[in-house]
Amino acid sequence: MSNFKVTASRNFANGSVYALRTEDDYPIETTDTFLPMITRDAEARGTNELVLANFGSRKDRWMIGVSVMSGCPVRCPFCATGALKKWRNLTAEEILAQVDFIVEKNQDRFKPTDAEEFRILFTRMGEPVMNKDEVLKAIKLIKNKYPHATVALSTAGPKVGTKEFFEEVKKIVEEYQDDFIQFQFSVHSTDDKQRDFLQPVKKYQLAELKEFADEWKKVSERKVTLNFTLCDDNEFDAEKIEKYFLADSIFIKLSPLNENNISTKNHLSGVITAKNLA
Ligand code: SF4
Repeated sequence: MSNFKVTASRNFANGSVYALRTEDDYPIETTDTFLPMITRDAEARGTNELVLANFGSRKDRWMIGVSVMSGCPVRCPFCATGALKKWRNLTAEEILAQVDFIVEKNQDRFKPTDAEEFRILFTRMGEPVMNKDEVLKAIKLIKNKYPHATVALSTAGPKVGTKEFFEEVKKIVEEYQDDFIQFQFSVHSTDDKQRDFLQPVKKYQLAELKEFADEWKKVSERKVTLNFTLCDDNEFDAEKIEKYFLADSIFIKLSPLNENNISTKNHLSGVITAKNLA
């Protein structure tokens, strides 16, 4: 049972976003979205863009985006969390409660077990590696309560903690004997100096991520994702990627920038111009 206070919400064509407050009044954001099954085949299609306004329903691909922190100390210059002065790690129970909150919101119409894919995205507020103990516990709590769930983790790859976090996530895949976790590094540029501006935390260099991608192949059929939210003239050098990584160990994702007050203040704009339908 979730005990969040809803302070705002917005509905769009394929879901909703909620601004919530924890019991001690910290703001977090949780999303409830869905997509048709065709978008799961992004690799073969070369895109997950919707050609027609066919959004499917929560019985197709149902995705719940959870925060792992309120605010975030990393302060990436394109990220809306920069507007929050304070931050704190969420507990595993608070992370699970966000999933419960969305499930409860939909309980009259949809059940997670009815969804062909029920996916929990650890991609809203916060850097998972900096809250690794609670995130690892939350993955297990979610999987125990919703055995049907798959999980997507996204990290900037901080030098402190990523290796340990990665090893523990591998152990979870092995323990559950279920290939249910997608591991993503958000990198945003193939130039490490640009990355230092975009992700102001001491982190693994692009070439160093190869070792993680190769190791992940030993436990999972899912390739490690490298996510690029491309802004302005930030470098995307395919030859560099080809030089550093084996093609069958990574999946490259290009994402639009969700422009916000912080990205505007830092004069950043996305290169993908397609917009979500309202
Ligand atoms: S690490 Fe993630 S949540 Fe934190 S500031 Fe950067 S993009 Fe935002």
